Amino acid sequence: MAGTSMDIIVAGRHRPGRGAVIRSLDPATGAVLAEVTTATAEDVDDAVTAGAAAMRDPRWRGLLPHQRAALLHRVGALIEEEAEDLARLQAHDIGKPLTETRALVASAAGTFRYVAAALETLDEELTTPRGPYLSMSVHEPIGPVAAITPWNSPIASEAQKAAPALAAGNAVLIKPAEWSPLAALRLGSLLLRAGVPPGLVSVLPGPGQVTGEALVRHPGVRKVAFTGGTGTGRRIASIAAGKLMPVSLELGGKSPVIVLPDADLDQVVQGVLLGIFSSQGQACVAGSRLFVHRSAFEELTGRVVAAAERLVIGDPMAQGTHMGPLISAEHRAAVESYVQLAADEGGHIRTGGERPTGPGLDGGFYYRPTVITGLDPASRVCQEEIFGPVLAVLPYDDEEELGALADSTPYGLACGIWTRDYRRAWRLARRIEAGTVWINTYKQLSASTPFGGVKESGIGREKGRQGIRAYMTQKSLYWGL
Ligand code: NAD
Repeated sequence: MAGTSMDIIVAGRHRPGRGAVIRSLDPATGAVLAEVTTATAEDVDDAVTAGAAAMRDPRWRGLLPHQRAALLHRVGALIEEEAEDLARLQAHDIGKPLTETRALVASAAGTFRYVAAALETLDEELTTPRGPYLSMSVHEPIGPVAAITPWNSPIASEAQKAAPALAAGNAVLIKPAEWSPLAALRLGSLLLRAGVPPGLVSVLPGPGQVTGEALVRHPGVRKVAFTGGTGTGRRIASIAAGKLMPVSLELGGKSPVIVLPDADLDQVVQGVLLGIFSSQGQACVAGSRLFVHRSAFEELTGRVVAAAERLVIGDPMAQGTHMGPLISAEHRAAVESYVQLAADEGGHIRTGGERPTGPGLDGGFYYRPTVITGLDPASRVCQEEIFGPVLAVLPYDDEEELGALADSTPYGLACGIWTRDYRRAWRLARRIEAGTVWINTYKQLSASTPFGGVKESGIGREKGRQGIRAYMTQKSLYWGL
């Protein structure tokens, strides 16, 4: 792919974007993987105008739920057919180990299949007469939808928005992140191959402030489904407020993982590692603050440190790799500055805190898994999202204090609780301010279970049946009797 400039997709047509070319790098080597043309405000306008027209086409509007579902099942099948190729493309594009990118691709296919199946059972309601009329409410597509996604879980993020948006009858305009446009472009091609009407499908790579904002501001875009950082979410929400446009915002996190004194520490170590070091910590739900009862603090910290030191860092394509590189040199520098800040804030770096060395590691943006103790829970390192492989381990003494500590950040995305005592788990799970609580597990996500955040982690829920309704609006009809 290197050396060729890839086209964008405007209303089903592959064509060069009118904007500057961006380079997608392989973070494992720093080599240029692809050059991609980008969409300008004019390209956005073409895509939105064509999308709105395609939504009104009676051949699309008239499709019955099972016919639209068949189309979405075909998309799922095509993703499954190309799964290995897509997983390899992703591993090169974002540096996650192949085992993880295979899971992302499976999740994307699963989303299309779940949404297709759920669509067939979303019925309308007819109410009993309350006067000389019969009333009913029907659901209609909300309007062209902008799906703006981050770089850390491409294809899964895009599928999570495109599948329900299309199921609901909308045109979808995907704006992938600058760092990872390749999977979204492939998904766009697969949607077209599956037979989704061309006008409904646009994939518009480009800088957030240019392409993303042009989409959010465009009067023809009727909903923005956004996943990304909290600061960006706030900006999008403020623009949307001016248009009175609904938004769904899946934002950042600083998720606590809580270990009660009776927890099975073997299980905990595995869960903690998965929570913070898979995806190199570049996960919105990363369990970045580990709260351990003081009685087990030293033992568990020692075991987590030892296990972190056994993780294999290296080529994402190689079998047995646990951690690949971070997404970019800039992002690694940001993570490093947080580790420096931790040291300045009085933290004790128990392991990590540096780049690994060794054959094949020099060109990539690698960073060692890092465990820090001795920090104040109110310190910046414990309050701000680092989005890297950095774990703060913090002691606590009683449950009341624990709840307050866990809730002490502006975020409320996820939480993990490890215990054998289901009553205490229930009490804590209900108390903690988070969109998702995992009990004796971590990072499990189901297509049918709603996902989203509270506080500064977001607004709205994706997944599940209501995730399809989120792309519809309701119209009430009264029939005089
Ligand atoms: P980001 O906010 O920088 O970018 C996300 C997307 O928004 C990109 O496509 C970007 O180009 C676009 N964008 C940037 N500025 C914009 C603007 N002014 N108008 C419109 N679009 C704009 O985030 P990122 O660095 O790509 O991703 C990391 C962040 O995403 C982390 O904070 C992480 O927690 C969050 N995230 C959240 C979830 C979730 O489900 N809650 C999932 C994954 C990632």
